[in-house]
Amino acid sequence: MSTSRTVLVTGGNRGIGYAIAERMIADGHRVAVTARSGEGPEGSLTVRAEMTDAASIDAAFTEIEARLGPVAVVVANAGITRDTLLLRMTEEEFTSVIDTNLTGTFRVVKRAAKGLLKGRFGRVILISSVVGLYGSPGQINYSSSKAALVGFARSLTRELGSRNITANVIAPGFIETDMTAALPDEQQQQYLSSIPAGRFGQVAEIAGAASFLAGDDAAYISGAVIPVDGGLGMGH
Ligand code: NDP
Repeated sequence: MSTSRTVLVTGGNRGIGYAIAERMIADGHRVAVTARSGEGPEGSLTVRAEMTDAASIDAAFTEIEARLGPVAVVVANAGITRDTLLLRMTEEEFTSVIDTNLTGTFRVVKRAAKGLLKGRFGRVILISSVVGLYGSPGQINYSSSKAALVGFARSLTRELGSRNITANVIAPGFIETDMTAALPDEQQQQYLSSIPAGRFGQVAEIAGAASFLAGDDAAYISGAVIPVDGGLGMGH
C-alpha cells in the first residue's frame, strides 16, 4: 500500500480520467477531478476547470488545496482530437488541439509546481498517446501535441528531478472510450489488425499504469514513456 496523497486528475468525468480517478480512490488517495460537465467517480471531489483558461485552472487548484490539501500527484489527462488530413486542416484545428492537449498540460503543471516543490514530493503523469511517436494520418495536430509531452516530461525531470519530483508519460494505444468510439469502423478495424494483443485496451489498464507511477514503488522512474498499447508501438 502506497502513501496516501492528494491526487488531481484532469478530465475525470469520463473515459480514461474517470477510471484513473476510481483507481486512485481505491488506492487510498484523496482524489480531485476537473470536469467541464458531469462528475468524477464517487468519493472524488469534482471541480470545474477549462484547460484553455489558466484562471479557471488556478481557481480549481485553490479549491482543491482548501478542501483536500496540496496536490502531490498530477495526472494531466484532459485532451481532444480534431482529425483531418493536413491539406484540409485549418490553423484553428491545429492550434485548438495544441492549446488543450499541450498548453493545457503546461497550465496545469505550472500551477502545480510550486506546491510540489514546497511539499518536497511530486508525481507528474502526462497522458500522451501511441500516435505521438508512431504517427497517424489525419492527426498531425493531435500527434504533435502528444509527442511534445515526451519532451515536456523529460525537461521537467531535468528541472525538478533532484527535488523528489518525477515526471512520466503514459502512451495509451487504442482504448475503448467515447474518443475512440467516434472513429470510423474501418479505421477501428485497421487498428485492430495491427495490435499484437489482438484487442483494444480497457480504461482500467491505463489506470493501473497511473497507479503504479503515483505509488511508492515508482520513486526512481522519471522521464519514462510507458506504453500501454497491446504492443502496437513496440515499446515506443
Ligand atoms: P474522452 O473524450 O472520453 O474524455 C476527454 C476528457 O477530457 C473529458 O473529461 C473532457 O471533458 C476533457 N476535456 C477535453 N477538452 C477539455 C478542455 N478544453 N478543458 C477541460 N477538459 C477538457 O477521452 P479519453 O478518456 O479517451 O482520453 C483521455 C486522454 O487519453 C486524452 O488525453 C486522450 O488524448 C488520451 N488517449 C486516449 C486514447 C484512447 O484510445 N481513448 C488513446 C491514447 C490517448 P468534457 O467531458 O467536459 O468534454
